[in-house]
Amino acid sequence: MKSKFVERFGTCSKDCYGSCVFLGSWNDNAEEFKFLESVPQKSHPFTNGFFCEKMNTRKELLYHSKRLKHSLVRKGKKGSNEFQKVNNDKAINIIAKKAQQIIENFGPESILGAFNAGNYGLISMYSPIRFFKALGGTITSGGICNEGGCAGLKDLFGTYSITNPLQLINPETHLIVIWGSDLSDRNSHSYSLIKQARHNGTKLIVLDSRRTQIAKEADLFIYTVPGTDHLISQLICKYLIENHLHDRDFLIKYTQDYIPIIKKIRKLNEEEITKILDLELEQINTFFNLLTEYKNHTIFNIGYGVQKDFYGGKIIQNIALIQILLGNLGKPGTGIIYSQSDFLKPFLQPLMEYITGVSIENTLPQINLINLGKELQSNKFKMIFVYNFNPLSSLPNLNNIKNCFLKKDLFVVVQDLFLNATTKFADIVIPSKFDLECSDIISPYYIPSISINNGGPCPYPNCLSNFEFFQKLYNNLCIGENPEFNENDNQILEHCLNLLPPNFKDNIIRNGYHLLFDINSVPFSGLAFPTFNNKINLKNVKLDFGDDWLNSIRKRKKNSFILISPSHKYYIHSQLGQIHNNQLDAFNKVFLCEEDITFLHLKEGDKVNVSNYLGQGDYFVARTSILTKGIALIYSGVPIESKINFNVNIFTPDNPEELGFSGSYNSTLVEINSLKH
Ligand code: SF4
Repeated sequence: MKSKFVERFGTCSKDCYGSCVFLGSWNDNAEEFKFLESVPQKSHPFTNGFFCEKMNTRKELLYHSKRLKHSLVRKGKKGSNEFQKVNNDKAINIIAKKAQQIIENFGPESILGAFNAGNYGLISMYSPIRFFKALGGTITSGGICNEGGCAGLKDLFGTYSITNPLQLINPETHLIVIWGSDLSDRNSHSYSLIKQARHNGTKLIVLDSRRTQIAKEADLFIYTVPGTDHLISQLICKYLIENHLHDRDFLIKYTQDYIPIIKKIRKLNEEEITKILDLELEQINTFFNLLTEYKNHTIFNIGYGVQKDFYGGKIIQNIALIQILLGNLGKPGTGIIYSQSDFLKPFLQPLMEYITGVSIENTLPQINLINLGKELQSNKFKMIFVYNFNPLSSLPNLNNIKNCFLKKDLFVVVQDLFLNATTKFADIVIPSKFDLECSDIISPYYIPSISINNGGPCPYPNCLSNFEFFQKLYNNLCIGENPEFNENDNQILEHCLNLLPPNFKDNIIRNGYHLLFDINSVPFSGLAFPTFNNKINLKNVKLDFGDDWLNSIRKRKKNSFILISPSHKYYIHSQLGQIHNNQLDAFNKVFLCEEDITFLHLKEGDKVNVSNYLGQGDYFVARTSILTKGIALIYSGVPIESKINFNVNIFTPDNPEELGFSGSYNSTLVEINSLKH
């Protein structure tokens, strides 16, 4: 057939800070390899003309030989990826029949839709909710990642989106504080902005539990112990107040209830805190001096790892307190960068209502995503649909999740691109279309913008977008005529674009994206925040919490370590194993610093057993210079290709963070025992 070359704007839909916008070239008439290449947009100030190393080989992933191209029905026992191919009609018939039986016997609310941000497109994530609404089913809500910090900041500011991240390169920014964020490995575009700022003379402080690449480049690096970051912040706040360097006028004018918190800070016992932190005071003093030198010109960029703790939201509030006491808000070169998705909410609300068919007043039964294991344990769910999500890899307390998915009376349907840890427990697997093949709209969480993904053709006729699958299932179930299931993804996208302000739509059509801010934009420049009285609300800020965790750290055995489980540089959670298979060895290992390896009488490559009250597994010891004493690192999100049975989440607790109900993945200790004898 004659070639038909087409260009389409696309956005990387990975659960990533970048949301890179690109121009994709396609040959729509090619038999299989229709997508030709993608050019990251130079005009987009964040994408800035480059992709990260993870996704340089987009095309290889799209047409990978292991991509699922047929529906699958379980052949072997649950726990293995043994299936037989069936056509889509047969798979959907089986699911529909099962759903009907379950509805008759247990009611529609016993059917659960579980999803997360595996594809960050709004249509991909939320359009299946139309199905669960029509059915009367239950859905998961919330996430497992940054919600604790969002809730903490929202308590203070009425929103968790406070600062425009392009301000990192504003000439007024003289100091950047990166708190618990590995920008060099996980957010290459922000890292590039910081390099630019550094080139122009901006100072850099990094606080982290790992000496990451960006930490090595910083003017000051401070090691933090997970779950104790608030204590560092409290020390700084105490110094500010004792030295009368807090901005009293700012506090009087723009905050509510600042006096009680000032009193509490005065009473803090510096000696006790420094003893717990086991830090060189000189470092804290340097931090303090830089903050005071660059008062009114300092931006904080706080990472999500800091709040992966039972008290994550409160920890973030304590860190934000430094910026509040300094009055570092609402001016060029100041602020707190965390999650920026709240900026877009007012514009996206009508789209969300349209995509889901659900309005704010009219919700459907929901369970918190982080509580999925506990909810499944209760036996009230008999069927689960999993899409955009790999719970058997990413949820905490995996042994419990595994047992729940093994239950005979839970029918599991998974829609995905590749076989993975969750498909091992599926009764039916539906092959998914790639993001590149689905029309969608993306609203990133780091750079406040909206961008488009114009889906190109998929060469595999059985692969379905999430909406297409639920649409087919809806029609099979014969629930009744419903206009919500007469549209296709393109029509939903078209409607969504029409719901946006005209200038947003024009920019999206013309450039592929609309940006909310440029580098000079200062959100909340009038310092009126969306709280009940427009002031920063300090009433709920607590300084005394987390003692149980501090006690368990203090009382731990000598072979016991605080476990951290960051993502690996080349993977997005459990994704991308197909194209980065030369790094898979990293998932075999427990990383420790030299001093700890020596202390345990081990050497690199020794096999050890890692265990805690939730699970145990064997790993090889690996030395790393990025960690300090007492911390063990195992990478999260084992790709299925790695052939490792032990996912670090067998050790992580499923008690949610208390304010936002996200995962408290870092609140855990493990013991390491040698297997030499
Ligand atoms: S994974 Fe992230 S940084 Fe990499 S291309 Fe996608 S959005 Fe960009």
